[in-house]
Amino acid sequence: MKIKDILAAGSPTLSFEVFPPKGEEAYESVEKAALEIAKLKPAFMSVTYGAGGGTSRYTVGIASDIQRETGVNTLAHLTCVSSTRSEVKSVLKQLREKQIENVLALRGDIPADGPIATDYRYASELIYDIKQFDENLCIGAACYPEGHVESVNKTADIEHLRDKVEAGCDFVTTQMFFDNNILYNYLYRIRERGITVPVVAGIMPVTNVKQIKRICQMSGTYLPARFKAIVDRFGDNPAAMKQAGIAYATEQIIDLIANHVNGIHVYSMNKPDVAAKIGDSLSEIL
Ligand code: FAD
Repeated sequence: MKIKDILAAGSPTLSFEVFPPKGEEAYESVEKAALEIAKLKPAFMSVTYGAGGGTSRYTVGIASDIQRETGVNTLAHLTCVSSTRSEVKSVLKQLREKQIENVLALRGDIPADGPIATDYRYASELIYDIKQFDENLCIGAACYPEGHVESVNKTADIEHLRDKVEAGCDFVTTQMFFDNNILYNYLYRIRERGITVPVVAGIMPVTNVKQIKRICQMSGTYLPARFKAIVDRFGDNPAAMKQAGIAYATEQIIDLIANHVNGIHVYSMNKPDVAAKIGDSLSEIL
């Protein structure tokens, strides 16, 4: 089923993200975790893609395993920064063979030593090509409530989001954020610019301190005082930090749904127990 149709139903939806293994030896353990998460019957599951394209077959493999074994719809991520047009076409053919109807079209982070291929500069170009390949594929794209790190300002970033929607994307998923007001402000701004596609809120349950350091280094995401207090108090106690991180994410989700942000995507990081706890806490809300 296409994600745009799932979102169009208008009810709150909970979905989860997993990432593929880096090598063959970890395939079985990632597949096991992904299938366990799928047993929670989320609205859909997404499978990320290495920016360098090296893990492409694992992305398609895990997404296809989930669909085949559990019947849960999948969204396969696809990055273009290091791919040629023919490599992109080959992945799209694999998705078609495996009956995967949803693609998250991304540029990917530019590698430190520059892109390996130069067929694509921006995700909007990839979206255009995907549409040409198969106009029936449901296409998602990334968006950044705090602005993308490379962007000069939020206004320019929103203009580039418009390019992606005009190229044919059907919905967008946000980068993680820890203050819902940032999303509410962003929604106001993009709607004002005529961007009307559904916005799925990306929520990261932070379960250890290492994760927080990485998040801040990579994306400069704003951490509210309430969140910092949790890290200060529980950062040295892994079990308490995990519990508090899950509770924080759950509260964020409840506030979003209460404010009619119905699409919730949890960056579950291949952790079935984290996904299950969030799902349980929302059992009467969803
Ligand atoms: P784009 O939309 O191309 O934007 C990149 C930058 O270029 C932005 O600053 C934008 O404002 C600017 N820009 C766009 N068009 C123009 C233009 N015409 N002129 C000038 N500037 C322009 N990475 C992975 O490697 N694998 C994944 O699976 C993955 N999944 C993700 C899922 C989500 C929900 C999110 C939010 C991010 C994900 N990422 C993933 C990270 C993403 O690849 C990076 O954030 C990347 O740096 C930007 O990708 P994009 O598709 O948003 O790029």
